[in-house]
Amino acid sequence: MAEIRVAREAGACYGVERALQMVEAAAAERAGSVHTLGPLIHNPRVVADLAERGVDAVGSPDEAAGDTLLLRTHGTAPEEEARARELCARVLDATCPFVKKVHLAARRLANEGYQVVVVGEAGHPEVEATLPHAPGAVVVGSAEQARAVPRARRMGVVVQTTARRELLAEVVGELLGRAEELRVVNTICEATSGHQAAAEELAREADVMIVIGGRISANTTRLAEISAACCPATHHVEGADELRADWFAGAGVIGITAGASTPASQIEAVRERIGELVGA
Ligand code: SF4
Repeated sequence: MAEIRVAREAGACYGVERALQMVEAAAAERAGSVHTLGPLIHNPRVVADLAERGVDAVGSPDEAAGDTLLLRTHGTAPEEEARARELCARVLDATCPFVKKVHLAARRLANEGYQVVVVGEAGHPEVEATLPHAPGAVVVGSAEQARAVPRARRMGVVVQTTARRELLAEVVGELLGRAEELRVVNTICEATSGHQAAAEELAREADVMIVIGGRISANTTRLAEISAACCPATHHVEGADELRADWFAGAGVIGITAGASTPASQIEAVRERIGELVGA
């Protein structure tokens, strides 16, 4: 009979739990309309569930004028936040404190005259919200891109919270020869590295791995990559309804991990569904 194991660290992290509690509390008050600026977290199912309960995602603070607006976990550019505070009746800041640390570090380095390099994925909301804190900052997503960064006397590095440590090491290795002084502030979130280590450990022992989380979630996609490197039969799903019985045929150990924006209820639903499919 197949054994179903959940990674020792998986699912909703501190920042996501905090954001969900804030939105739940705001919705329960029933004191006017509640919106989130962009999707609150990168989990379409949670976002759809919130929408059903009347909490919708808006594209700009202008769409939430006079109402309650939650700033999402990935952070908000300073100008946009200022606009929200000007227009909205109430602004609740659900930015994860670890993301705020990235903003602070980038701002401090820029103020001290460092050319700021943000290691991460260009276009990701967290990176986009970080850039305005350090005017002139550049985004580097690979060692190859690091080789194209112009030389500078003083260079300061911050990292997207969900980036891989290996990427940071590769980029820093390249930048060492491009600056007289290189300062690195490691802003990778421990929740992310803990999830990654636990996923790798489990994937080494599993015949099949299920990775739960939004397809647009950077940290979930990274977990799926790490898992697939150790266990080729890795499947990334957003919910229990995507599971297929043939994935588990002949499997001895079935591993489950989940991204930082996946609530415990979704992990439990997947575990139960796998149990039904394999008769465990
Ligand atoms: Fe915050 Fe880390 Fe969770 Fe991102 S993964 S929301 S940085 S606790």
